[in-house]
Amino acid sequence: MNLLSRIFGMIDLKKPSEIELIRQSAQIVSKTLGLIAEHIKPGITTLELDKIAETFIRDNGGKPGFLGLYGFPNTLCTSVNEQVVHGIPNNKPLQEGDIVSVDCGVWKNGYYGDHAYTFAIGEVSEEKKRLMKVTFESLILGINEAKQFNRIGDISHAVQYHCERNGYGVVRELVGHGLGRKMHEAPQVPNFGKKRVGPLLKNGLVIAIEPMINLGTHEVYTLSDKWTVVTKDKKPSAHYEHDVAIINGKPTVLSTFEYVEDALRKKGDFYVSDETFKPKNPINYNSTITLAAG
Ligand code: MG
Ligand code: MG
Repeated sequence: MNLLSRIFGMIDLKKPSEIELIRQSAQIVSKTLGLIAEHIKPGITTLELDKIAETFIRDNGGKPGFLGLYGFPNTLCTSVNEQVVHGIPNNKPLQEGDIVSVDCGVWKNGYYGDHAYTFAIGEVSEEKKRLMKVTFESLILGINEAKQFNRIGDISHAVQYHCERNGYGVVRELVGHGLGRKMHEAPQVPNFGKKRVGPLLKNGLVIAIEPMINLGTHEVYTLSDKWTVVTKDKKPSAHYEHDVAIINGKPTVLSTFEYVEDALRKKGDFYVSDETFKPKNPINYNSTITLAAG
């Protein structure tokens, strides 16, 4: 990060070596979510999941990225049903039919990874499955717009258009963000907006794209615990998040849901990605980063 961006909160474009470190942290998050996928089921508590995540992250040489960040008390944000984001893990057992958004951050070697997946607990309603699928699809559509010479608004619009077309509410109060030495850097990446508006996307930009989508109204409020954001109409909400770098003009996803979906497939649980949904542009899930000179 250069001095100007540190002082003014300007967009900090990353060098390939920095992107590689963000990818390493993001991959620890991916594997942590994969481990959560193995354990999550009716009867387990979110606090038990939190301990599993914290142990795994520390065993892999990382630090939980959320623990202590702005005073947050845990490793995971676990948001059940009408909870949108920032749910605090607790001792209440998860129940068949719940959906749980698990958001996780990791810090290692000076850089953060940050991503999230919404899980179905046992058999969930078709209404909830559809919300999860559409939210995931909107993430893919947003990622496809994360290319050189586009603007942030192109990502925002792609997410909003797909979710609203399906009748869902797009949360306004919380947004995606730049990612690097800090968990939250410029630019903000809203899930609503207009095409061709906002900061220009350039090679070296690393952002967390994270649609937070409600079955009903887009309106939310924060509970008295000062953290948990819930929908105003108490209808469920879903949240998927990937870390994306623009490399050689194209989006490269630094995180992966591969571990999560392998685990869910083995258990016979519901998962969101499938062959019937084809993103417009193929997503580069390369495990190593290659960059053209300059
Ligand atoms: Mg997150
Ligand atoms: Mg984030």
